[in-house]
Amino acid sequence: MARADGILQGAPLDALRQRHRGPLLLPGDDGYDAARAVWNGMIDRRPAVIARCRGPADVMAAVDAARTAGLPVSVRGGGHNVGGKAVCDGGVMLDLTAMRWVHVDPERRRAQAGGGTLWGDFDHEAQAFGLTCTGGVVSTTGVAGLTLGGGIGYLTRRHGLACDNLLSADLVTADGRLVHASDDRNPELMWALRGGGGNFGVVTSLEFQLHPVGPEVAAAVVFYPIDQAEDVLRRYRTYAEAAPDAIACYAMVVNAPPDLPAEHQGRPVLAIVGCHADDVDAGRELLQPVAGFGRPIAAVIDAMPYTALQTSFDAGNPTGQRYYWKSQHLTGLPDELIDAVCRYARDLHGDFTIIGIEPLGGAQGRVPPDATAFPHRSVPFSLGIWTGWADPAADRDNVAWTRDFFAAVQPFGAGAYVNYLGDDEADRVGEAYGGNMARLVEIKRRWDPDNLFRVNHNIAP
Ligand SMILES: Cc1cc2nc3c(=O)[nH]c(=O)nc-3n(C[C@H](O)[C@H](O)[C@H](O)COP(=O)(O)OP(=O)(O)OC[C@H]3O[C@@H](n4cnc5c(N)ncnc54)[C@H](O)[C@@H]3O)c2cc1C
Repeated sequence: MARADGILQGAPLDALRQRHRGPLLLPGDDGYDAARAVWNGMIDRRPAVIARCRGPADVMAAVDAARTAGLPVSVRGGGHNVGGKAVCDGGVMLDLTAMRWVHVDPERRRAQAGGGTLWGDFDHEAQAFGLTCTGGVVSTTGVAGLTLGGGIGYLTRRHGLACDNLLSADLVTADGRLVHASDDRNPELMWALRGGGGNFGVVTSLEFQLHPVGPEVAAAVVFYPIDQAEDVLRRYRTYAEAAPDAIACYAMVVNAPPDLPAEHQGRPVLAIVGCHADDVDAGRELLQPVAGFGRPIAAVIDAMPYTALQTSFDAGNPTGQRYYWKSQHLTGLPDELIDAVCRYARDLHGDFTIIGIEPLGGAQGRVPPDATAFPHRSVPFSLGIWTGWADPAADRDNVAWTRDFFAAVQPFGAGAYVNYLGDDEADRVGEAYGGNMARLVEIKRRWDPDNLFRVNHNIAP
């Protein structure tokens, strides 16, 4: 028999072996357990086979094998999806970690990146020319996964979402073909790739528009005691709402980092972290007010390599710990919301927890809601409750705390962001796509009518 439930064996496996150049890992093989582990240590799924693809030909072979055997497909880029969508139970997991490459064309200000590239790879290459585009704020997040869902970062207000900078992509579709999508070729598919997630195929390369940024930018990193949080956040609100597009400042509650004075250790602190994306001297001036929202514990407002800013949260988000997230876009930062955030901030659960307020608006807010699949263009902020801890015995308590917190702030919500949805939030996919959902379903019906690509925040055909 060729196929038992969730097992790839016999002729289909032999056919895949003949076409696939990268390693194929089966349960029990050396490296299988390491390859199925992702950023969120709560994810424990066992694919029938892990195909470590070396390029588009391997991706085509693995997609064909899954479709022929009737098995689901999952795609691993950076492995950062909190819901663990990179890994499937009993299906074909396409591991793109060997497809990490970046080619920069500095004259045309464009870059191509492989489907498994990380933002650290991308910024490293592009910054050699003083160029980049909007990426995530942690360097080990995947370029494809982040961009396909939208992509928020320090440059969002200046240069749009990551997906607004996506010019074209090559992807292997459900029928196993390699297809090019751009505004000229397959424009409907291109529209869907700008925010529609991994629903339409396996992206093997992405082409981006680059902008002059860095290599040094003016950056602010300011820590306030948690007992000043109510006042600091009100001043942050006033500042962020009036800031020029070049400025993006995040407000984040974190456990005090080790370099802060002893009296703050073991307690949460409020960090304002941000940058000015253009001129360094002007940026330094414009960021000065950030140190005056209260009486800071520590404040640095100075020039910093953009690549250093882009790695400054890496250590605070360690791989393999346990994570549970809730998040939503916000219509604003009313006093009642700030007070609720501060109440939960004082009772922060989990050693790796971050409560994050991300600034939106600016350039990304001027894109019409139906110009790309990402519809939430008029919201000024986004709120993330990103709970993280080490001890499995604390799972129940930390999940309950996150849900309680979310329930308290939900009345201020204005939609979901697909890249932050957890595994238990399939019912919020409609909230993520809003008025663009019907068009996405139409495109899904055309390109993946049997929903081969369903291990994701799924748009059902
Ligand atoms: C520590 C951390 C920091 C983050 N920071 C930000 C941030 O600053 N801004 C932001 O917007 N988001 C951020 N995110 C969320 C992030 O955008 C999503 O988790 C995203 O899904 C990660 O992509 P990935 O490739 O790393 O993840 P993976 O788990 O590998 O992939 C997630 C999903 O993306 C799709 N996918 C990935 N690669 C491909 C591909 N080549 N072709 C087709 N589909 C693909 C698949 O559906 C897959 O299931 C962060 C997440 C973490 C854990």
